[in-house]
Amino acid sequence: EKVLPESVLKSSTAPSLIRALFEEGNNLRKVHGDEVCDFSLGNPSLPPPKAFADACLTLAQDPPVDLHMYMPNIGRPKTRAVLARELSKWYNCPITEANLVLSCGAAAAINVLFHSIVAEGDEIIVNAPYFAEYLGYSRNVRANPVVVQCDNDFNLDVDAIEKAITDKTRAIIINSPNNPTGKIYSEELLIRLGKMLMKVYTERLSRNKEASPIFIVSDEPYRRISYIPGELPSIFNCYNYSFVVSSFAKDLSIPGERLGFIAISPALLSPPLITALSTYTRVLGFVNAPSYAQFALELALDAGCDISEGVKEYKSRRDVLHKGLIDAGLECDLPEGAFYLFPRVPAGMDDLRFAAILKEQLVLAVPGRAFGDSNCVRFAYCVDMKTIQTAIPKIKVGVEKAKQ
Ligand code: PLP
Repeated sequence: EKVLPESVLKSSTAPSLIRALFEEGNNLRKVHGDEVCDFSLGNPSLPPPKAFADACLTLAQDPPVDLHMYMPNIGRPKTRAVLARELSKWYNCPITEANLVLSCGAAAAINVLFHSIVAEGDEIIVNAPYFAEYLGYSRNVRANPVVVQCDNDFNLDVDAIEKAITDKTRAIIINSPNNPTGKIYSEELLIRLGKMLMKVYTERLSRNKEASPIFIVSDEPYRRISYIPGELPSIFNCYNYSFVVSSFAKDLSIPGERLGFIAISPALLSPPLITALSTYTRVLGFVNAPSYAQFALELALDAGCDISEGVKEYKSRRDVLHKGLIDAGLECDLPEGAFYLFPRVPAGMDDLRFAAILKEQLVLAVPGRAFGDSNCVRFAYCVDMKTIQTAIPKIKVGVEKAKQ
């Protein structure tokens, strides 16, 4: 009996390389226990900050009447107001609750936004190395992802992006701090990107008064996991036609709670846009971001919700694993944010081969082709320090074997 249409069979039979490796890790652990060093998944290993845990407890002990109820599709007004206050500081720009839509994580934020601003047949520029789901999210709206390689330092290649733009280009998705490279884009680079896109828009308008701009969708779930001094640049101050999509999965260590948001550039805010975002939140079946998490976020942000200890901890894990990779003879930039290391594979082999050699040593790293770059492998170091220490001598053996 044929249940699935051909198109579904084609698009859903290839399991995500990352998920497949994660499942394999679980099986290997049954035989080898703690000897298995699993760096496959960006699943935060730290507990949520105390302010968030306390908020959950308070809500459980003294639940507001509407704690488990439906709410506006774009989220609780009070939660959005509290978050807007924080975002205005993080983004150095006036953001109000009107600019904010709460979502079921960054994944839903991107899907809801793409449904709202992208039409069938449009092109979405994706920069490699990329978070692989961007390709699927683009296809969900029957748009075509157009992949542009970053430069050798994993920075956006603005000239290459300009060359890839066509009349069908509708949006470009960028991600900083980046998964998988850990790169943080500088303000100068983002301004250069914004200026190039403004030039393209001006040209489009000169040909057609109804032309639309190319939107920047800036995916920033790792924004607050940064190891460089000072504030990160705000895309809103670099380009008017921009959106931030984000999540509390990583900085608050709550990926399973599915809480994120879409922040709209003050220059782009309009009632039809909010109606579209609200409608797609509903008709895609999300309805609203989880209510308990919204209430808890509101209380936690009001209580200060300090995440600096967690960031310090990730930084020390980054430093130990980075040194381990360098000592083992791998080439690897020191990431500026997020919790991933993306070393190049030893000369003369590809990512699949090197990941297989590491797996023989019970070290699970994701082949870089899962992110559009088969010269590298990715280590997610959001694991405990003991796993990192156990892994380092194994990685060294793996590199020696790879070089034989
Ligand atoms: N964007 C990037 C760059 C990510 O790394 C992830 C998750 O790993 C997501 C989006 C999805 O985040 P969420 O779990 O909030 O949907």
